[in-house]
Amino acid sequence: MSTLLIRNARYIVSCDDQDTLWEHANLFIRDNAIEYIGPELMHADQTIDASDMVVYPGLVNTHHHLYQIFSRNLPEVQRMELFPWLQTLYEVWKNLDEEVVYHSSLTGMAEMLKTGCTTCFDHHYVFPAHAGDLVAAQFRAADTLGMRFHASRGSMDLSQKDGGLPPDSVVQSIDAIMADSERLVRTWHDASRFSMHQVALAPCSPFSVTGDLMRESAKLARSLGVRLHTHVAETKDEERYTLERFGMRPVAYMESLGWTGPDVWYAHGIHFDDDELRILAETGTGVAHCPASNMKLSSGVCRVPDMLRLHVPVGLALDGSASNDGCDMLEELRVAYLLHRLHSSQDAPTGYDLLKMATRGSAQILGRTDIGYLAPNMAADCFLVNLEQLPLVGAQFDPKSMLGTVGLKGSVDYTIVNGVPVVQRGELTTLDEARAVSQANAVVHRYLDR
Ligand SMILES: [Zn+2]
Repeated sequence: MSTLLIRNARYIVSCDDQDTLWEHANLFIRDNAIEYIGPELMHADQTIDASDMVVYPGLVNTHHHLYQIFSRNLPEVQRMELFPWLQTLYEVWKNLDEEVVYHSSLTGMAEMLKTGCTTCFDHHYVFPAHAGDLVAAQFRAADTLGMRFHASRGSMDLSQKDGGLPPDSVVQSIDAIMADSERLVRTWHDASRFSMHQVALAPCSPFSVTGDLMRESAKLARSLGVRLHTHVAETKDEERYTLERFGMRPVAYMESLGWTGPDVWYAHGIHFDDDELRILAETGTGVAHCPASNMKLSSGVCRVPDMLRLHVPVGLALDGSASNDGCDMLEELRVAYLLHRLHSSQDAPTGYDLLKMATRGSAQILGRTDIGYLAPNMAADCFLVNLEQLPLVGAQFDPKSMLGTVGLKGSVDYTIVNGVPVVQRGELTTLDEARAVSQANAVVHRYLDR
């Protein structure tokens, strides 16, 4: 049993139901849970002096493709939109293997931890034949770093010869996908409170997956008690695709396949009309908002102010590193703030609204009730920011909104996941960063040379 005291924090932004902002308070952690927040000082095995710091709940990333880190910034795709961008990059991604997935996951997760993100969901959907156990490699990376990790068994079964986007070499049969999905859920999924490992089923998108695979995935996920995720309404091309092929708008199509409900969340969700937003609100279907990716790929602006008004569950997400091109949730939070200010002016979410979206909102769409805000009996996931630094002078009067309005560049001071400090004084405690970078770069060269 171990205890950790965050002592005399200048502020604790709890994001709890009452929006409590603690001043000069202590946060006491026993093992992996918060036991106490308040004025009392308790003795602990380890103490962090937080008298110059703000404590925030750990950020939760609800959509990523970690394998894409090794194919970001390739010059030939920088001016493309989604469909041609995907078709070009599949030619690189078909060479993925366990080594690429392990090192790209390690690299991305390490950057996330250094920028305050404590839980990550990764949407992995490229499973080339003989590539090894890619999901196991991702859990190995998460365990090395001490990150709370939600993996997915993604899938594609609609290749170019059947009118889809991906090449034949990266699609699989529905039977193979179902068997491997069940194996991975039984091996890795832990539904208990404070779980560090979860698995969702996540067919890639309506234009790379058949309706049968979507239907079968929904059935299997519900029989195993795991969540469902896919890309929906990312581009106008996709809207045209579902209208022409199925005679339905994207949400009607997803609804016809059993893909709405509180156990389902979509990535992007940009091009919804009013009726579609109403269906999402009524069914509790969630959206992972990915502002940087949406801007980079010229996909459009997600209707976040309308979603928040209608109580559609919305979380924040990075999306793949080939469309973002980074793994920094603090940057994503600020980008979201600026994008919606530009697009919606006074109706835009505040900096604090976006902090809550990146914590509570994200936790909700991952189906977690034990992370997302700071209170007794919640998981001990948080990060600390020192206010006594040049970029934050004069910014300390509204710590709730600060990360959106002013933003924070570079590493946070501390990140704690499940009660363990995994970043201390801005450095990872679980990884030799310089060594990890050189190993990862060697793998990048081997991969891109194939
Ligand atoms: Zn994506």
